[in-house]
Amino acid sequence: MIYDIAIIGAGASGLMSASMLPSKNIAIIDSNSKIALKILASGGGKCNITNKNVSVENYLANKEFIKKALDEFTPKELLKFLDKFKLELEVRKYGQYFCKKSAKDVVSIFEKLTKHCHFFMNTKVLHVEFKNHFIIKTQGKTIEAKKLIVASGGISYTSIGASPIGYEIAKSFGHSVVTPAPALVGLTVQKDQFWMKNLSGISFNTKLSIEDKTLESDLLFTHKGISGPVVLSGSLYWKKGKIELDFLPKSNLKKLLDKKSKKQISSQLPLPKRFILEFLKSIHVEDKAICKLNNSEIEKLQVLKKYEFAPAGNFGFTKAEVTKGGICTDEINSLTFESKLQKNLHFVGEVLDVTGELGGYNFQWAFASAVSLAKYI
Ligand SMILES: Cc1cc2nc3c(=O)[nH]c(=O)nc-3n(C[C@H](O)[C@H](O)[C@H](O)COP(=O)(O)OP(=O)(O)OC[C@H]3O[C@@H](n4cnc5c(N)ncnc54)[C@H](O)[C@@H]3O)c2cc1C
Repeated sequence: MIYDIAIIGAGASGLMSASMLPSKNIAIIDSNSKIALKILASGGGKCNITNKNVSVENYLANKEFIKKALDEFTPKELLKFLDKFKLELEVRKYGQYFCKKSAKDVVSIFEKLTKHCHFFMNTKVLHVEFKNHFIIKTQGKTIEAKKLIVASGGISYTSIGASPIGYEIAKSFGHSVVTPAPALVGLTVQKDQFWMKNLSGISFNTKLSIEDKTLESDLLFTHKGISGPVVLSGSLYWKKGKIELDFLPKSNLKKLLDKKSKKQISSQLPLPKRFILEFLKSIHVEDKAICKLNNSEIEKLQVLKKYEFAPAGNFGFTKAEVTKGGICTDEINSLTFESKLQKNLHFVGEVLDVTGELGGYNFQWAFASAVSLAKYI
């Protein structure tokens, strides 16, 4: 039998494509035994499904390429769609929408919407050929289809099914692939910043700047280096080289270091005491009354507003929530997501060279690209 459409990947973008496509003759192939494992694992089990503030500026991508799909299916439209299934959501501090109960509720929506599809689970795709139609070779079976949608995601979290098959298929049809790298991932530190490792578990609001990008949210110190929302989003823009941290983004340090103050530094500055004490050690300043600080010590403390350093690396693909890089979008139609090199071959979601910041932006992209594809295919 030849299917009208075969979809590789029963994740966010594959399931949304299948739900929206008019055809009833759809095969969905996935190496996992269950659908949507990433949705289940996301947002600490509560799936951060989208964000109030989605704009092209939240993505590392060709902005013109992503604009059409993001405009086609906005967060408002996603919320309207989810509301039809009475999915209860809550909004958090930075505009993120999370499930009130469980990510399982999102998965059960897609289970209902894809009942008509033929699922091939526990089926790892190895290779794809084209001879009048697509011939999809898997471990065991060969599946044939007139159209092929590759929704196989990136290569982060291989423990829940990730593989480079999407990039391999793209290359075999002549596409270029921007080198994949871990993103939304913690950063390791060099020797000069090893003092940070003594602060494992401490977290507070920090501003992070990398080149022309400035982000503000919580930073978390870990035994390996730095993590937390602001670092995860920052890792998207970090290549190699320096980043800058402002540990007191909401405070006027000059006022806090008022020379008349008799308070100890660690009591005066609105930062966790353990952090201040380690920081002071690292800059060789004693914790003493502010009025006793000399000019050179006051100068050294200014670093709290502008701590510049080059991270050593990142925590790697096993810990990265997403993969940046991927199939070059110059060779893809931005509405149908069809390859410009091979008719009837489509790529959606994270497999493309489009990556969002932390906060629901990646699911929004996976869903928006899938809805656009289904509408214009
Ligand atoms: C732990 C974790 C938490 C996350 N939390 C959030 C969050 O809260 N909000 C957010 O917006 N984003 C989050 N993300 C990112 C988000 O999950 C992805 O960006 C999104 O799922 C991408 O959708 P996709 O359909 O492109 O790929 P995926 O959802 O990754 O789906 C790809 C599917 O393809 C299958 N596949 C891969 N290779 C093969 C093969 N060779 N043969 C057969 N099948 C194959 C995989 O098994 C998988 O099911 C999180 C990611 C992780 C890892």
